[in-house]
Amino acid sequence: MKVKVLGSSGSDLPGHNLTSFLLDNTILFDAGGVTNSLNLKEQQKIKYIFITHAHFDHIRDIPFLADNIIISGNKKLQIKVFSIHEVIEDIKKHLLNQKLWPDFTVIPNEQDSLIKLETINLHQSFEIEGFKITALPVNHTVPAVGYFIQRGKKFLFYTGDTGPTKKTWELLSNVVLDALIIECSFPDKMRRIAKMTGHLTPSLLFKDIENLKFPPKKIYITHLKPFYRKFIERDLQKNKNYHLEILRDGDILVI
Ligand SMILES: [Zn+2]
Ligand SMILES: [Zn+2]
Repeated sequence: MKVKVLGSSGSDLPGHNLTSFLLDNTILFDAGGVTNSLNLKEQQKIKYIFITHAHFDHIRDIPFLADNIIISGNKKLQIKVFSIHEVIEDIKKHLLNQKLWPDFTVIPNEQDSLIKLETINLHQSFEIEGFKITALPVNHTVPAVGYFIQRGKKFLFYTGDTGPTKKTWELLSNVVLDALIIECSFPDKMRRIAKMTGHLTPSLLFKDIENLKFPPKKIYITHLKPFYRKFIERDLQKNKNYHLEILRDGDILVI
């Protein structure tokens, strides 16, 4: 599988895109920074979006993506947006609600709408474009999931935003992950704020993934607050037990 990092930042600043990962050109995981990183042709290839939670930095570009595609005039395109019930309800109620933005789930009509919102259940795997995808609960300040993605013998887990989340690792304890994309928003010196806001610091992260029976072959760090990048990097370097890489926007991961 090929994952293009469209956005790996925990804050929106020039040169720092909000969270979005594009899997094999057609499946998007979170939609924070899509329309500034893909051209229109690339945006038109997106068929599915998996949202981890309804925080704005993970859903912001759904409206702009829909707008670009409608304006392009290709009426055959449709994007399915998947998440757990609570997240889908928040998107309906607070984003595509005819007030903040047009409701693209009924445009041009309900049957052939550009956006289809689809509820998925926790722990229930389903197949899309040759990938088996499962939503697993994580521990954030709002209902949130990570996505376990399998193709053949390759296994990837993307956490979205999470604080310490022991139960999630227990669910994955028998799997050897080829790649773990995990958030690390704050440096160790901000542990209290990280815990309060449902995020990780390097030491919280290392302690948490000890709950995995097998260490992931590769760990990709995302969602850093750019102001603290240097401190987070320094704290991450203290632990040499893992094969670790801090993501940058535009990176391409071959898993
Ligand atoms: Zn969040
Ligand atoms: Zn976030």
